[in-house]
Amino acid sequence: MTQLHIVGGGMAGSEAAWQAAEAGVDVVLHEMRPKVGTFAHRTGDLAEMVCSNSFRSDDDEQNAVGLLHWEMRAAGGLIMATADRHRLPAGGALAVDRDPFAAEVTSQLQAHPKITIQTSEITELPAEGHWIFATGPLTSDALSHAIAAETGAEALAFFDAIAPIVHADSIDMSVAWAQSRYDKGETEEDRRAYINCPLGRDDYEAFIDALLAADKTAFREGETAGYFDGCLPIEVMAERGRETLRHGPMKPVGLTNPHAPDVKPHAVVQLRRDNKLGTLYNIVGFQTKMKYGAQTSVFKMIPGLQDASFARLGGIHRNTFLNSPTLLDDRMRLRSRPNIRFAGQITGVEGYVESAAMGLLAARLAVAEIAGRRLPPVPPTTATGALVHHITGGAEAKTFQPMNVNFGLFPPVEGLKPGRRGRKDRYRAYTDRAKADWQAWLAAALEPA
Ligand SMILES: Cc1cc2nc3c(=O)[nH]c(=O)nc-3n(C[C@H](O)[C@H](O)[C@H](O)COP(=O)(O)OP(=O)(O)OC[C@H]3O[C@@H](n4cnc5c(N)ncnc54)[C@H](O)[C@@H]3O)c2cc1C
Repeated sequence: MTQLHIVGGGMAGSEAAWQAAEAGVDVVLHEMRPKVGTFAHRTGDLAEMVCSNSFRSDDDEQNAVGLLHWEMRAAGGLIMATADRHRLPAGGALAVDRDPFAAEVTSQLQAHPKITIQTSEITELPAEGHWIFATGPLTSDALSHAIAAETGAEALAFFDAIAPIVHADSIDMSVAWAQSRYDKGETEEDRRAYINCPLGRDDYEAFIDALLAADKTAFREGETAGYFDGCLPIEVMAERGRETLRHGPMKPVGLTNPHAPDVKPHAVVQLRRDNKLGTLYNIVGFQTKMKYGAQTSVFKMIPGLQDASFARLGGIHRNTFLNSPTLLDDRMRLRSRPNIRFAGQITGVEGYVESAAMGLLAARLAVAEIAGRRLPPVPPTTATGALVHHITGGAEAKTFQPMNVNFGLFPPVEGLKPGRRGRKDRYRAYTDRAKADWQAWLAAALEPA
């Protein structure tokens, strides 16, 4: 069988190498560390966890990331099997003893007869051969330039200015309303792509006080030399003057509140639809360096968001990622250069587990292609499928930001109670459906062409 080259031996590249080698393909894994380092990695080990040591919730019945654990275990994933062997006590979460974990992933890959590891920085996108690029949020500068030359610089982000994302069904629509500013938009759907939360003067003043007082995270050394005015954290805008937000992302113009048409709100927080399903909304312009605990309490002060459930919280950090919805096809190949696949965080997923899952999938797609087979599409009802559908088409390309796996990415299960009260049954229905569909997909992938 033809060789598969994998660039980057992080979470995604390590899993991809394992999956392809176990399927009988010869793999060359190119990892630049320890010869060339990054500001966050400390060692030359593969699958190094750069920050927290948590794979988050291990609950595969009520939690989407727990479901992703389940799917990777069912697919014989190296990252999950090794994490399980180095599990630390952490309640319902899967915490990992990071150094022995990375050392074991490294030795398993080194010992595999189908894998050759080369310590080298790849700086070009090769014209021939089968390649998976899994170089992560800290992709080296030379390679970033080569990717930007291929995709156009505007399709490759170097910063992640993340606005918080809210589950649509947790927004109180008896307070908020759907309307685009000045009713702009060609279709009724466009005109309803925004949800507005009104603040009176007192709400606004209390919100600004809370924002200024909230706990914030400092930038790490080397992470950034500064940020552009276009993506300033909201608390920095508030520090520039108490009225700044009211003239910026919270301006109350061009909107009429149907719940109180005669009352002009003092300020308005707008949320914009974040996926085609309409299950997720991002809070426009609300990138922030507030700590996660502070974010939930401060954002819940916004009328209409008092019961908000967050699919992800806001942040700003160095992160190289592609505008995958425009650049990648549904097989994770670069549309303009189909011999090249991308996997891991660089595709616009976020997190150790999500990155490893995208490595697993990219390798299986590459192996099938090398063998002259075409795998059936991964069902969007599975956690792996929901993620890949999101990044390769489900997400709005214009506002594309890295995404954690969450149930807002799944097609709804019909006939279940909406809202908070039905949540337990709904999540159970999502995970039951996902497990059955994932097993069927794994079985179909084994059938002869
Ligand atoms: C500072 C920071 C903190 C983070 N904290 C967390 C956290 O707490 N929890 C969490 O879930 N996620 C966190 N993340 C996100 C985390 O990076 C991803 O979850 C995960 O590591 C991504 O996996 P990956 O395989 O895509 O990239 P990585 O794990 O980063 O692996 C990419 C690999 O590619 C190599 N590489 C880069 N360029 C080249 C090249 N040109 N040639 C050869 N090799 C190359 C790198 O050395 C690296 O080993 C953090 C990210 C950063 C930057």
